[in-house]
Amino acid sequence: MKPPRFQYEAPSTLDEALRRLAELGDSAKVIAGGQSLMPAMNMRLAAPEVLVDLRRLESLRGIRELPNGAIQAGALTPHAAFERSELLQRRMPLIPAVMRFVAHPQIRNRGTIGGSLAHADPAAEWQAVCIALEAIIVVAGAQGERRIKAEDFTQDVYTTDLQPGELVVAVEFPAWPSERRWGFEEVSRRMGDFAMTGAICTLELDAGGRCTRARCVVFAATARPMVVEAAPGLLVGRVVTDNAIDAVAEAARDAVDPMSDHHASAEYRKELVHTLMGRVLRQALSS
Ligand SMILES: Cc1cc2nc3c(=O)[nH]c(=O)nc-3n(C[C@H](O)[C@H](O)[C@H](O)COP(=O)(O)OP(=O)(O)OC[C@H]3O[C@@H](n4cnc5c(N)ncnc54)[C@H](O)[C@@H]3O)c2cc1C
Repeated sequence: MKPPRFQYEAPSTLDEALRRLAELGDSAKVIAGGQSLMPAMNMRLAAPEVLVDLRRLESLRGIRELPNGAIQAGALTPHAAFERSELLQRRMPLIPAVMRFVAHPQIRNRGTIGGSLAHADPAAEWQAVCIALEAIIVVAGAQGERRIKAEDFTQDVYTTDLQPGELVVAVEFPAWPSERRWGFEEVSRRMGDFAMTGAICTLELDAGGRCTRARCVVFAATARPMVVEAAPGLLVGRVVTDNAIDAVAEAARDAVDPMSDHHASAEYRKELVHTLMGRVLRQALSS
């Protein structure tokens, strides 16, 4: 299938892009990697009159460490750059490990972190990673810049806090504590397919093996990733035992109200949440 006719622009600066978006209003859409937008246009689910291509905005590309140990990534950085980043292998190994589960290599070469977050597919790994790592999404618009907690950025299926004319320009991941361990698992029909359900956890343990911090996130089961609110209460302040892990997995299953669709029923997803949460916590402990 081919998309409807559209005009094409490729501004060379962020200011120019923001100005054009303000002028064009609803008639325009930005395109980054095109890995979600072009299929939507080909299927006539989106029909923008003007495509504003961000690819010339070099300032929105790249992964760098900030003086405080945080990692900042430009919105146009493709998934593959995170997968291959030596800096991230050393500093935030969860990110390259998870990227291998995003689609296929060709899609990872073009698809971007900013596009994935703006698109807000419930099964997208980026949303879950950003929420698990308490990232900040930096957006820019004609009115200036805003910094939004990842947890507040995605609001519903394909719906974010982005206002008309605003762009995601960067994502900032707070410094990774040396005592942090992590686990990630997802279930999909084939490698590279969108996940039916996935889970991520980060645990911080003190020298005596006591948990000092825990964050558990479930994704692809609900409209937006779900933080397992009960997890810190069940884990922090104690040595993490099998019983505590089972309690968190049960709490996650009880809290989640999953979607049913042609990939999986709500009942099946609930069981996946229980199984995957247990597995990622055990992974984190044994890492
Ligand atoms: C076969 C296939 C399998 C896939 N499997 C997975 C998967 O397993 N996991 C996964 O997470 N993703 C998957 N994807 C999606 C892929 O990761 C896309 O790269 C991603 O969703 C969108 O990124 P993009 O840069 O291509 O955005 P685009 O397609 O260019 O844009 C997507 C949307 O975001 C908007 N947008 C883009 N950039 C910005 C920005 N900086 N600021 C504001 N709005 C912006 C666009 O206007 C558009 O509405 C798959 C895609 C395909 C085709």
